[in-house]
Amino acid sequence: MATIIYQKNKCIGCHACVEWAPDRWRISRKDGKSILMGSQLKKKVYVAAINDREVLQNLRAAEKCPLKAIKVCA
Ligand code: SF4
Repeated sequence: MATIIYQKNKCIGCHACVEWAPDRWRISRKDGKSILMGSQLKKKVYVAAINDREVLQNLRAAEKCPLKAIKVCA
């Protein structure tokens, strides 16, 4: 089990995370920013627990995010 931490305030809606980890990321029609599916807002960041098979693609999403808004913690 790992955790994704997402700072939505940094997001510019570039779609990179959606392309690399489409099961977890969507672009909001409301504000054009990414949504971390299944997350909860905790102290201004979105947090989601993910299973082991999701780690690799979300690590790639984090790596490709130009604003470094995504972190994956093992
Ligand atoms: S890759 Fe980063 S900046 Fe781009 S949509 Fe995803 S969270 Fe936002």
